[in-house]
Amino acid sequence: MSKECEIVRDLLPLYAEGLTSEASNEFVEKHLKDCAECTQLLKDMREEPQPQPLKEESELPLKALSKTWHRKNRSLAVLIAGIAASVLISLYAWLSAPRYLTYEQAVAKTEETQNGVRVFFTNAVHHIHTESYAEPEGESVNTDLECWTSTLDQLWHADPVRDALLEGDVIYFRDNQAKSDSDVILHGTPESASIPLRRLSLNYYLFIAAAMTLIFGVCAALIRNRRTSDLLAQIAMVPLAWCIASVIVERGIGAATWSLTRDFSLIILLCASLAAVLISLYRRRREKKSINSALM
Ligand SMILES: [Zn+2]
Repeated sequence: MSKECEIVRDLLPLYAEGLTSEASNEFVEKHLKDCAECTQLLKDMREEPQPQPLKEESELPLKALSKTWHRKNRSLAVLIAGIAASVLISLYAWLSAPRYLTYEQAVAKTEETQNGVRVFFTNAVHHIHTESYAEPEGESVNTDLECWTSTLDQLWHADPVRDALLEGDVIYFRDNQAKSDSDVILHGTPESASIPLRRLSLNYYLFIAAAMTLIFGVCAALIRNRRTSDLLAQIAMVPLAWCIASVIVERGIGAATWSLTRDFSLIILLCASLAAVLISLYRRRREKKSINSALM
C-alpha cells in the first residue's frame, strides 16, 4: 500500500459522508481515478449498513438542547440590550429636553443695527434657534428667536451662547410658554399679530399608534389560528412601543412640541428598543406557556 493510499483511506470515511473539504475531495478523487483498491473500499463503505442513524438519534436531544440554549441566550441578550438602550435613551431624552427661557431670563440687552438687532444673552442661554419666514400676506420677513437650556447643559457646565446678530423686518423673541402673548418684539413693527407656526404636536401620531395597538391586539385575541394570532400580537408591540416612547419623550400626553425633529428622532430610537424588549418578553412568556401546556 502506497503512502498516498494510506492517507486516502484515513480520509475515506469522512469523504463518504461528505464531511471533507474541497481540497481533500480533489485529492481523494484524483487518487480514486488511478487506484482500484481504494475505489472498491469506498464502494464497500457506501454499501455497508451505516450505524449512523443510531448515532444521530443519541445525539439529537443534546443538539436540540444546545439549540434551545443558544436561542434562549440570544433572546436574553436582546432583552438586556433592549432594556439598557431604552433606559439610556429615556435618560438622555429627559436630561436634554429643552427648557425654553423667557425674555427676562434670556436677554441681557439688545442693540439696533441697520438690518436688525444684535442680542446679548445672559449666562442661562445654552442654545438658540432662529428661523426666518415671509409673512403669508405681505412682504415683510419675520425672524423668530428661541433660547433654551437643559439639565444636561447645566450638569456639564456647557458654554453659554454670548450673542447673535439677527436680521429681518420683524424679529420676535418666542419663549414657547403656554400663552403666545408672552412673546416679545425685538425689532420692527408687525403689520398684524403673528402667531408662531411651529407649534406642531406629536399627538396625532400617538393617536394613530394607540389605534393600531388596539386593532392588532383585538385581532390577535380573536383569531383562533395560533401562528397568526402570535404574529399579530407581536406586530401590535410596535405601535404600543411608539405610544410608550412618545409619552416618555414628551413627558406626558397632549403636550405640543417646539422641537419636533429632536423629539421625533428620539421617539423612533426609543420605540425601536422598546419594541425589541416587548417582543422578547412576549416570546418568553409564550414559550413558558407552551412548555407548561406540554407538561400538563
Ligand atoms: Zn489507493
